[in-house]
Amino acid sequence: MIIFKRAVDLDNYLFEQKRSGKNIAFVPTMGALHQGHLSLVGRARQSGLVVCSIFVNPTQFNDPEDFRNYPVNIANDIELLVRGGCELLFLPSVEEIYPAGFSKKQYDLGPIELTLEGAHRPGHFQGVCQVVDRLLQIVQPHDLFMGQKDYQQCMVIRKLIGLLGMEDKVNLVVVPTVREKDGLAMSSRNLRLSSEQRKKAPLLFETLNFIKDHLSQFSIPELKEQAKKELTNHGFKVDYVEIADAQTLAPLQDCSGSCVALVAASTGKIRLIDNLSLN
Ligand code: AMP
Repeated sequence: MIIFKRAVDLDNYLFEQKRSGKNIAFVPTMGALHQGHLSLVGRARQSGLVVCSIFVNPTQFNDPEDFRNYPVNIANDIELLVRGGCELLFLPSVEEIYPAGFSKKQYDLGPIELTLEGAHRPGHFQGVCQVVDRLLQIVQPHDLFMGQKDYQQCMVIRKLIGLLGMEDKVNLVVVPTVREKDGLAMSSRNLRLSSEQRKKAPLLFETLNFIKDHLSQFSIPELKEQAKKELTNHGFKVDYVEIADAQTLAPLQDCSGSCVALVAASTGKIRLIDNLSLN
């Protein structure tokens, strides 16, 4: 695997690869890699030359403590990427992504920016768009791989690709969530769970399954209420349990079309999110 720290070097290398007809498959990450990230790399391998980036993007953290405590383990990440078949790694510094004089754009993302994650993490999606915009300009991939684990983020990036006029150039591929044996969605933040918190953490996925299994028995408000109560009773601080339209994320009162259940809740200082398609 070749590691690039400077955008110009990666750009030069990719220019040659593209000229020789290679399809560029890009997997952006913040590191502390796990099997979820590696499933994106695995999918990317089927599509072409795999470029992965590791960059803990400061502008998407609305909570400075979360940023300070974000797990970093580059040596282990490199080992996993080599074993996973990644060919190129982009490992930029903050200055490389946001050079002096970098001017911040404002992205008009519409209602998805301010709902759910957006409502609880002000500015988060603007920060995500800032870094993904920059990475897309540098890598100019044919295919971009992202995880369904971050359902709303995938929608935001689809919107961003449209705003950038790149819909004919960049194909967004959404990869299913990889879970631990007990159902917990894999996440870099899981590394920070205490053993007590780790035991409780699968309750998010259990709650989503409860909703899915009881759709015909209870109304949507009742299901959301029961889900919140169950999580709260187990010591979670619930940010939201929502049942929403799978395409717009608008909250639903009935689930006749395609819909998705989404949850965000904290145990101690660790905030977890998960989602499940309901039909
Ligand atoms: P992150 O490093 O958390 O920014 O994640 C980088 C990419 O990996 C994003 O597209 C995530 O949605 C994806 N990802 C994270 N966790 C998982 C998972 N458990 N299963 C599938 N994809 C994931």
